[in-house]
Amino acid sequence: MNKLRKITLKSTTDKTSSHPWIYKNHIASVESGIEPGNIVAINTRDNIFHGIGYYNPKSLIAARILSSEEEPIDFNFFKERILKALQKREAFRKITNAYRVVSSEADGLPGLVIDSYNNTAVFQVNTLGMDRFKNEIIDSICEIIKPSYIYEKSDSDLRKVEGLKKVSGWHGTVGEGKVVIFENEVKFTIDIIHGHKTGFYLDQRKNRVALGNICKGKSVLDIFCYTGGFAVHAALNGASEVTAIDIKKEWLNQLKENAELNNVDRKINFVKGNAFSVMREFVKIQEKFDIVILDPPSFLKNKYGLQTALKGYLDLNRLAMRLLSEKGVLCTFSCSHHMRNEIFSDMLKKAAAMENKTYSILKRCHQDKDHPIIKEIPETEYLKGYFLSVSTIE
Ligand code: SAH
Repeated sequence: MNKLRKITLKSTTDKTSSHPWIYKNHIASVESGIEPGNIVAINTRDNIFHGIGYYNPKSLIAARILSSEEEPIDFNFFKERILKALQKREAFRKITNAYRVVSSEADGLPGLVIDSYNNTAVFQVNTLGMDRFKNEIIDSICEIIKPSYIYEKSDSDLRKVEGLKKVSGWHGTVGEGKVVIFENEVKFTIDIIHGHKTGFYLDQRKNRVALGNICKGKSVLDIFCYTGGFAVHAALNGASEVTAIDIKKEWLNQLKENAELNNVDRKINFVKGNAFSVMREFVKIQEKFDIVILDPPSFLKNKYGLQTALKGYLDLNRLAMRLLSEKGVLCTFSCSHHMRNEIFSDMLKKAAAMENKTYSILKRCHQDKDHPIIKEIPETEYLKGYFLSVSTIE
C-alpha cells in the first residue's frame, strides 16, 4: 500500500470515539500536497493511526473515515463493503424486491446511498471523496447486486457544499424510468427519475405494514400521501374507505396508478390541496376518521428553525386530533434527525392538552432496518413516529 499523506487531529487517541466525521476545527494540521477529495491517513495528536478517510476542506465535515484499518481503498474495498451490506438485508428479500442496500455512514460508506428496485439499482453520491470512486462503485454494483440497469441520482443539495454539480443519468444500458416493485402483497410503481429520494419512502416500510394490521373496517385519512405508501396498504388491508391528500397532482396521479395496480382505486378518495387548509375544511364540516396518518415532509432541514418547525407540527397534530373519531388512532411522524424524540413527544403532549385530548401509545415507530441506526452515529436516526389511541378528556 502506498504511503498516504497525513492529517493530524488536535485530540489524542480516544478509543471510545468511532464516529466517522472529522470536523474542520478538530484538525491540527494537513500535510502539504493533499488535494480536496484525496484519500488520507488520519492520525491523532500523539501520532497514533486513527483511520483512513477522504478529505474535503470545502465542507465543515472536512474528513470522513472509511476504515479504521490501514487498508487500500480500491475496488475490493467497495466490493466487500457492498457485499456485507447486501448480506445484512437478506431477510428483506423474502418480503420485497425494493430495499436500501447501502445507507451511507450506517454501512461504512459515508456519502453513498444505493437502493435496489426490482431489476434497477439507483445510487446517490453526496461527497467529493466518494465521487472519486464512482467507477469502483458502479463495478461493485454490477458484480454484487447484479441489476439489469443502474441509474445515478446524485441530486442532493449536499453536493453543492462539497463543490460538486448535480448529476443524474443511466450508466450502461438505459432502463425504464418507472419500475414495479412489491412489498408483501402490495405493488407499487416507482418513478425513480422524478420521484422523491430515489423514488420511494423505503424507510416507512414496516410502519406501512403496522398500519395494514389495524385498519380493517376503518375509515382512514392519509395526509401528505405522496404515491400512496400508506393509503394503498390501508385500502388493501380492508379499510372501509381511504382519503388521501397531497399538494402535487403528479403524486396523486401516481397514487391512482398504484391503487389501480392493486385493484383498490374505488376505495380511495383523492384530494389535491394544501394539507393545512384541507384539514381545516374537514374540521369545519365535522368530518371524522378512525385513523389519521400524518407524514409531513421534513420541516426542519438543519438545527436552526426549530421553533417554526415545531409550530407546523403542533398545528398539524392538533388538526389531526380534531379529525379523529373517539379512540381513533393517530399515526404521526417526523423525518428530521434534528427533531429529537423528546421534543417531538413533548409537542404531541402539548397538542393533546390544547385539544382536551389524552392518548395512550400503541406503538413507537422508527425507520425500517435497511436504514440502520448506529449507536455511535446519532445522525443515522432520523425517522420517528407514534401510533396513538386518542380519546377526549371527560
Ligand atoms: N407518506 C408518504 C411520504 C410523504 S412525503 C409515503 O410514505 O410514501 C411528503 C409529501 O407531502 C409529498 O408528496 C409532498 O408533495 C407533500 N406535501 C408537501 N407539502 C404539502 C402541503 N402543504 N400539503 C399537502 N401535501 C404536501
